[in-house]
Amino acid sequence: MSGASNQHIVIAECRDGSLRRVSLEAIAAAQGCMADGDRLAVVLLSPGGAESDAAAGLLARSGPDEVIVVDHPVLGRYAPDTHLAAALEAAKALAPETRWWWLGHTAIGRDLAPRLAARLAAGQISDALGAARGGDGRIEFTRALHAGKALERRAFRTGGPAVVTVRPNNFAPAPVTAGQAAPIRRVPFTPPPSRIFVRDVVRRVSGTVDLAEARIIVAGGRGVKSAAGFAPLAELATLLGGAVGASRGACDAGYCDYALQIGQTGKTVTPDLYIACGISGAVQHLAGMSRSRVIVAINKDPDAPIFGVADYGIVGDLFEVVPALIAELR
Ligand code: FAD
Repeated sequence: MSGASNQHIVIAECRDGSLRRVSLEAIAAAQGCMADGDRLAVVLLSPGGAESDAAAGLLARSGPDEVIVVDHPVLGRYAPDTHLAAALEAAKALAPETRWWWLGHTAIGRDLAPRLAARLAAGQISDALGAARGGDGRIEFTRALHAGKALERRAFRTGGPAVVTVRPNNFAPAPVTAGQAAPIRRVPFTPPPSRIFVRDVVRRVSGTVDLAEARIIVAGGRGVKSAAGFAPLAELATLLGGAVGASRGACDAGYCDYALQIGQTGKTVTPDLYIACGISGAVQHLAGMSRSRVIVAINKDPDAPIFGVADYGIVGDLFEVVPALIAELR
């Protein structure tokens, strides 16, 4: 990093009006890399209204120096050009120090981050699992390579500007305290003429807990055998306050929606607890879940590769083990 002070900017995200946990994780990631004299602003691009006000209030108590809110009804739905323009508008309200931008590695973050980096001629690091300042003052980022088989550490040659996305569930979220809140500033915004108009969003997700941010996931594979076979898994997930996931085998077989697919061509997840039921553990599946903190595998086949990454393995029929777990939890 350069010797001069830096302005860190976290772009916060809401979903269905509620602040996403990954935004607090991005704040913590940025805070962990700040040097003396650095400043942290959180930017909320919002459609306005009571929910946005509540989100801004939470952000103000999560440790930034200030919160910048850009309110406009068009920001209620993500569109790349309007969100990019709104983010740049927010940045104009900040001192022109070197900027480090931090976003969640979400669908929006993945789309917006490279646009920001290109517009600002900034470097970009995607999907960071860790970030820390090294002895030489540079920020070092940890990233997964080769579908999670190896980790790399990267740093920018220059001291910024830079745009970083952080993988959900990999940084402890910044605590929201009851103490003093940072000032909230509203920035007027006139959206540029957009070539994109979002007509409708059709969501193909079941369950109430977002898979990418879930702390507990109960995932089913081809061993679940039918769509109805997922019912006990859903029940277990609900009891644990978690979400249901699936292997591609289960999705291809039509047992569940592709929105639940975890793996190389599905979602990447890092829950505290991953319970794999009737999943063999193909390398493409492991790519999306092997960094889960505790993995429990339930499989009839004692030689299933999933046991190679599991912390706890249960060799048995999932249709006996899952109901037993449900009964025990009840
Ligand atoms: P299977 O391999 O058929 O395993 C089923 C398991 O269930 C077996 O181990 C069996 O012993 C067990 N079982 C059966 N009955 C029971 C029972 N009653 N109780 C307990 N256990 C039981 N896969 C993904 O998951 N995600 C991806 O993103 C992904 N991307 C891919 C990308 C590419 C380019 C390719 C080529 C493949 C990809 N795959 C992906 C597919 C992957 O290779 C596997 O085919 C898939 O993961 C297998 O799913 P499965 O484990 O559910 O099924």
